[in-house]
Amino acid sequence: MKYILDFDRTLFNSPACYQYITEQKGEFEFTAEALADIEVCQFLYDDVISWLNTKSKADLYILTAISPKYGPSAGDFQREKLFCSQVVDAVKDVVFMEGLKGEPVAEIAKQFPPHEPLVFVDDRIEQCLSVKSAAPEAVCCLMVRDPAVVGEVSEVQGIKIVHCLADVDAIIEEL
Ligand SMILES: [Mg+2]
Repeated sequence: MKYILDFDRTLFNSPACYQYITEQKGEFEFTAEALADIEVCQFLYDDVISWLNTKSKADLYILTAISPKYGPSAGDFQREKLFCSQVVDAVKDVVFMEGLKGEPVAEIAKQFPPHEPLVFVDDRIEQCLSVKSAAPEAVCCLMVRDPAVVGEVSEVQGIKIVHCLADVDAIIEEL
């Protein structure tokens, strides 16, 4: 089983991190400097490190999108955030990209053994649908960290909804 995981709002509580920086520094910009003196790893969701440690490092990938709308330093900011978060050591690779994730996921999956099951987790429905289209064999999970947002709904547009990483394991067990 291989896992390709989104970072922001899937593994990392970025809204809380950005709010904290704003409170601490009086401003927030998408620059690597904004993260100076910030303990970035405290904004990983509570289940992340323990869950990653239940998997083989060789099976774990992070695929994170850089948003050009956040300015010319958005890439530097994203790389700094990932490397400060301490998840880098727990995964085989971190891939940075822009736009939709379908093709990048299909590209990463080329290096996997044929028929190796693949799980993709992201908090954005458009990313899940993009991956479902480009890599139909992938099990796609929409991460909604706040269950109140979706109530009792367990699936949207054919994509399973999960609220934590243990929910991902439960879906795999049901396959
Ligand atoms: Mg995300």
